Amino acid sequence: MATGIVGLKRAEQADSAWGQPREYEQVTKEYDVVVVGAGPAGLTAGLYTGRARLKTIILDRMGPGGQLLNTELIEDYTGFKSITGMEMAQLFEEHAREFGAGWEYGEVVEIWSDGRWKYARTADEELYRAKVIIVATGGMPRKLGVPGEQELAGRGVSYCAICDGAFFKGQPLAVVGGGDSAVEEATFLTRYASRLYLIHRRGEFRAQKVLQDRALNNPTIQPVLHSVVEEIGGSDKVEWLRVRNLQTGTETRLSVGGVFIYVGFQPNSGIFRDPVQTDPLGFIITDEKMETSIPGIFCAGDVRAQYVRQITNAVGDATTAAIAATRYIEALDADLHASPDVIDQETEAALRGIAEQYP
Ligand SMILES: Cc1cc2nc3c(=O)[nH]c(=O)nc-3n(C[C@H](O)[C@H](O)[C@H](O)COP(=O)(O)OP(=O)(O)OC[C@H]3O[C@@H](n4cnc5c(N)ncnc54)[C@H](O)[C@@H]3O)c2cc1C
Repeated sequence: MATGIVGLKRAEQADSAWGQPREYEQVTKEYDVVVVGAGPAGLTAGLYTGRARLKTIILDRMGPGGQLLNTELIEDYTGFKSITGMEMAQLFEEHAREFGAGWEYGEVVEIWSDGRWKYARTADEELYRAKVIIVATGGMPRKLGVPGEQELAGRGVSYCAICDGAFFKGQPLAVVGGGDSAVEEATFLTRYASRLYLIHRRGEFRAQKVLQDRALNNPTIQPVLHSVVEEIGGSDKVEWLRVRNLQTGTETRLSVGGVFIYVGFQPNSGIFRDPVQTDPLGFIITDEKMETSIPGIFCAGDVRAQYVRQITNAVGDATTAAIAATRYIEALDADLHASPDVIDQETEAALRGIAEQYP
């Protein structure tokens, strides 16, 4: 380990003689930990590394809070019977700040590692250098892109059945999509819905057979096949969907209290310069310490390949990532402290050798 670090120092020295590469030249800010993303995962990671007295900065291309800022009410975070997403975002941010982790605006466009240092470059051409990077960039549910979707988001338009299903007890609901998530969440929602329309553009669902069987045998679920949602309507909350049958061209208005959209979830995992291990959908694969396939780059929350995406497990991932990152830095620092001696001894030996050769 020490040898690698010594080698890197030499490489830097050699680089300075020949004109340093961009990443060394442009380092404007240096930290122990750079966290990319200030959602629940990023703010929790910052809280932990800040509390461990590591110099920490959290970068986000928006304000702190992540998807919390798109969430009306949260009822499933332990200890908070009911809290708005905005309030939770503020509490998380204050808590991280109290332990010394600040956040800065910055859209990270690229991250990489040279072994010892990890780098993050922003769209404003700021370059951050840190001993560890924690990627907590989350992801975005894919949108339908129809009129009413944006206007009524959080007022009947939802992308999370587990989060919002309980707000619609006894109401007719719709789920849009044909994959595993859509079909599984449709079954889940029947515990609240008086009737559930499962709307899919094709003639059959893509979901696993076992999930389809469970859903299609449920009397509350009514499949609406070969159909697309053209518009979501209502005065100040969702009241109806305009649905078009792609085979016949007929349009129908379905009365619903809510619509749950499951047409895909896009992880924000495209910032790695070098290849990193992901699953086929682009979610980042980590080990149990939340370390990615690039040593010293950790990952937490929705962007990570995992079974569920909730605030509680984003926070749990981040706890593990931050503690593992702290230990990684301790080991790295121990090597760095050892390395000057190694350099001195090596340099001395080399000088002695040169002196003996050229008396
Ligand atoms: C509408 C909705 C309602 C939900 N309701 C609930 C609920 O009631 N209960 C629950 O447990 N879960 C709920 N969830 C899920 C929950 O919000 C997520 O699981 C959680 O926010 C994940 O946290 P995260 O920090 O991993 O990612 P996010 O919250 O997505 O935060 C990621 C952050 O990274 C930033 N970012 C991304 N890329 C970059 C970049 N390149 N540079 C800089 N910054 C970047 C983003 O701006 C964002 O702030 C809901 C989700 C949605 C969409």
